Amino acid sequence: MVEQGGNDQPPVATHLGPPAYRLATPTGVGAILKKYGFRFKKSLGQNFLVDENIRRKIVAAAELSSRDVVWEVGPGIGTLTQALADAAGTVFAVELDERLLEILAETLAGRSNVRVIHGDFLKVDLGKLYENSLFEMGAGGGLKIVANLPYYVTTPVIARILEARWDWQLMVVMVQAEVADRMLALPGGKDYGTLSVLVQYYAEAGAVARAPRTVFMPQPEVDSRVVRLRRRAAPRVVPANPGFYFALVRAAFGQRRKTLRNAVKSVAVLDPQELEKAFLQASIDPMRRGETLSLEEFAALSDAILALRKGASPPP
Ligand code: SAM
Repeated sequence: MVEQGGNDQPPVATHLGPPAYRLATPTGVGAILKKYGFRFKKSLGQNFLVDENIRRKIVAAAELSSRDVVWEVGPGIGTLTQALADAAGTVFAVELDERLLEILAETLAGRSNVRVIHGDFLKVDLGKLYENSLFEMGAGGGLKIVANLPYYVTTPVIARILEARWDWQLMVVMVQAEVADRMLALPGGKDYGTLSVLVQYYAEAGAVARAPRTVFMPQPEVDSRVVRLRRRAAPRVVPANPGFYFALVRAAFGQRRKTLRNAVKSVAVLDPQELEKAFLQASIDPMRRGETLSLEEFAALSDAILALRKGASPPP
């Protein structure tokens, strides 16, 4: 048996086992980092959680049961992983930094439902991981993705999961406040952009908690927020060609100061009169800016452009 220290106390060793580290506290995290001589790599977005309250809120937001499988991106020293393992059936934790593996072996010892995978989450074979997850999942359980994300890969990690075909249920992620604002933004504001459309196309997004920079070690320069995405059974809109839909969205936000007419003309590949017709058919004023269009309006415009393209005579 291992005794835990009291409020924010250093680890306490007993004669029956190794010292336990009270993770999610500055003292506990500091102690284990010291033991292994660990030095943070800023380039890997290493800001470790040192706050019990935020950890609790993240885990509660994931609505975990023992039938669920969790993917964690970047377990670090295992602070969140411990709590996830206690609430879920199985946790697959993908960590890029090899130096953390021996620390994880210690902090996760005894939690046999955690599998640590050494690798880059953007490169691991997620299809295979999904197959393994289905194997571990209990009847009625689901796949949930929970992470305190390394800030430098936040958008590609979220995009990789959103665009995947497999059936995940919930994603609970801690991200920089500014990224959270973009994920949750509605049309008309400066935060509304490609990320907002991508997130809201596939999921219902909501804010869970604010996390000031003080909940991390070392402290980053900006505050963070926890956001929850609940995957929609079907995308919010169903454009005729989703690939073209997103190309149009990217073009519209790529040149935010331009009118839609100018911003989308290169991706539309229609002559100017035909493009005007597409705007008319979609009931969208071409003088508007992309940041004012709802997901539904983007779908109407993308379908109208494609329909006119099909009807157009082939180039000579
Ligand atoms: N989950 C831990 C916590 O909350 O204290 C650590 C979070 S820290 C913000 C991000 C973690 O992601 C680090 O452990 C870092 O080494 C890891 N990481 C960075 N890039 C990664 C990648 N591409 N794939 C997997 N892990 C990555």
